[in-house]
Amino acid sequence: MIYYTSSVKETDELAARLAGKITNGCFIAFRGDLGAGKTAFVSALAAALGSTAQTSSPTFALLNQYTDGRLPVYHFDLYRIEGREIYDLGFDEMFFDAHSVRCVEWSERLEEQDMPGQRLDINIIKLDGDNRCFVITPIGYKEGEFDI
Ligand code: ADP
Ligand code: MG
Repeated sequence: MIYYTSSVKETDELAARLAGKITNGCFIAFRGDLGAGKTAFVSALAAALGSTAQTSSPTFALLNQYTDGRLPVYHFDLYRIEGREIYDLGFDEMFFDAHSVRCVEWSERLEEQDMPGQRLDINIIKLDGDNRCFVITPIGYKEGEFDI
């Protein structure tokens, strides 16, 4: 599924539409260059799920948690992670919590076998100015389950 937005507001709306489809939990693997809008999308998703916490880029924190909404949101940013360091961080409990929404920026740092077989891949492509392209690929879900 491919979606285009031309402002942060439209990206917020897209994230809110996706949030409406998340009933239990979900693992979302983000890809996209710096400034593509990964953090913006996750922040909007957490807000749409009812979190009123201040959202921010977790790049320095590696993990931000928004647990005051309809579902807990764990927001990982693997930008600064090298190779297998990832497996020493003690994130397992949150990473594998199927009843939460787990959003991973720079998911390409992970090996395929270390991500859940059922997940959403979201690739964000930065176009001119404020235009962005979102390629959302549900993996391991029933056809149409994540149509937004
Ligand atoms: P990333 O986490 O992918 O590095 P960020 O979400 O931190 O990116 O930053 C995205 C930047 O792009 C922000 O400064 C935001 O204001 C800007 N921006 C401009 N247009 C859009 C859009 N359509 N969707 C999302 N962000 C946008
Ligand atoms: Mg980011």
